[in-house]
Amino acid sequence: MGKVELFVGPMFAGKTTALIRRVKELQSQDKKVKVFKHCIDDRYAEESICTHDKSSFNAFNLRSLKEADVSDADVIVVDEFHFFTSELIDYCEQWKSSGKHVIMAGLDLDHLGYPIKFRDSKKDFEDLRKLSDEVTFLKSRCAVCGKEATMTERIAKNDDYFLVGSAESYRPVCKEHHPRWKS
Ligand SMILES: [Zn+2]
Repeated sequence: MGKVELFVGPMFAGKTTALIRRVKELQSQDKKVKVFKHCIDDRYAEESICTHDKSSFNAFNLRSLKEADVSDADVIVVDEFHFFTSELIDYCEQWKSSGKHVIMAGLDLDHLGYPIKFRDSKKDFEDLRKLSDEVTFLKSRCAVCGKEATMTERIAKNDDYFLVGSAESYRPVCKEHHPRWKS
């Protein structure tokens, strides 16, 4: 049996940075690591994972996890898992039971403050959390008060549930300053 490890939190919490650090650590232990991300995320570059400070790491861009060749990998890494459909849950279970070590990073909550839905809306983060062995919750800084932020607020005027964006569209906030909770 393999295992599933997650790095989650709001936007700008250093999830990708944590992922890159973990990948480098495993590579130094001679593990064969393969990194994947959804091709929807072309915010900075093709073929590489980028953090917001632009440090990067080579990755395979995919439209679907069906395209992921993991036969020669000990460790399977997926960045921004929330861009995939709920097929991610099935692949995760499959990889785990075939003995792979799976590491993923993404958002745990959507901009409304609820567990984020995968892109076919059939499953959400709670389904992923249930099959995970280790979850690291990372925090950002609240854009309003500067305290620890665990949530993401959408500042762009757009009601589509799925909106790919960065600092122009979203900001990290604490629970007190998130629209779901503030009075
Ligand atoms: Zn705040």
